[in-house]
Parts: sequence; C-alpha cells; structure tokens
Amino acid sequence: MQTVSIHDKTFVPYLTEAEILGKIKELARQLDKDYKGKRPLFIAILNGSFMFSSDLFKELTIEAEICFIKLASYKGTKSTGHVITAIGLDTDITGRDVVILEDIIDTGKTINEFLPQLNNQHPATLKIAVLLHKPDASVFPVKIDYCCFSIPNKFVLGYGLDYDGLGRNLRELYQLKD
Ligand code: 5GP
Ligand code: MG
Repeated sequence: MQTVSIHDKTFVPYLTEAEILGKIKELARQLDKDYKGKRPLFIAILNGSFMFSSDLFKELTIEAEICFIKLASYKGTKSTGHVITAIGLDTDITGRDVVILEDIIDTGKTINEFLPQLNNQHPATLKIAVLLHKPDASVFPVKIDYCCFSIPNKFVLGYGLDYDGLGRNLRELYQLKD
C-alpha cells in the first residue's frame, strides 16, 4: 500500500483489507451467535456503510434481513432546531430485532439524534454495529454494541468512506497524513 492523494490531501495506509475483513468475519460469527433464530433486521446507513454492510452481510449464516437508508438533516423551525430524518425506511420495525450498521461514529451526533426516532417505533431490541469508532471525538453519548476498530481522532478514508466524494472505492483504510 502506498500513500494516496485525494483532492488537496495526502493519506497514508492505516488498515489493510485483510485486517478489515478479518475483523468483519469475527463480528459476523458473534452476530450469528447472538441472533440465532431471531431473524434480525439490519439497517445500513448510506453512503459510508455500503462496503462494510455488504461484506458483513455476506459472512452471516443466520436468517437475516437488510435494508438501506439515508439520513438527511435539515434545519427545522426554531423550536425543533436541527432535524434528522430517515429516507427509505419502508420496513415496519415494530417488534423486530434491529441492528444499525454505521461506517464510523465520530462525535456521535448523527446516531444520537436518530436513535430516538427508531425507538419510537418500538423495536424488540435495537443495537448498533460499527466498523470504526473514534472514542476521543465523542461528544454525544452513544452505546455501541459491536465495534470492529477503535481508532484515533484522525480523519480516515477508503473502504466506503470518502473525502469530499472521492476515495470510497479504496479497499484499504487510509489516514490523513500529518
Ligand atoms: P458523527 O455524527 O458521529 O460526528 O459523524 C458521523 C459521520 O461523519 C459519519 O457517518 C461519516 O459520514 C462522517 N465522518 C466522521 N469521521 C469521519 C472520518 O474520519 N472520515 C470520513 N470519511 N467520514 C467521517
Ligand atoms: Mg455514515
């Protein structure tokens, strides 16, 4: 792996494809165990999680469903402030065992604001599985149930994650060069 230049920035190799896929296999074995006989519904949050959710879902051997949503945030009225809505959630999650799939949790703002909306629909259980977590960037409390990698508070790119639209196709993860 070599450094890559995207737009105006340089990125250095951080996690290899083998390291990433190895961790995802471990996570799949854990989910196979925890959700055996439950037919969980995975909700993958686009765009960043497309590669992670695809590789994870292929590794599962239990019966499971998956759907893909996008979160759109817009400014609400003064009283409601900033609002996050889910686009494309067409499956009824009432009584379901739901697992959110996210690429990365940084400040935790996105998930923190979105989870109550899902809880309002009364899933039987609601858990969060992430590829990456930056504990040092945490501002909003989020209980992460499954995490592949805890990483330092540096911008990363590749394996589905972009820098201004580019870099999602990289098979490895890269870190912004100091
Ligand atoms: P949060 O709401 O937890 O602060 O941020 C969540 C979103 O910010 C992620 O879903 C992702 O889109 C973006 N993000 C946070 N950190 C990074 C990073 O290091 N690299 C990339 N490419 N996106 C990031
Ligand atoms: Mg994301």
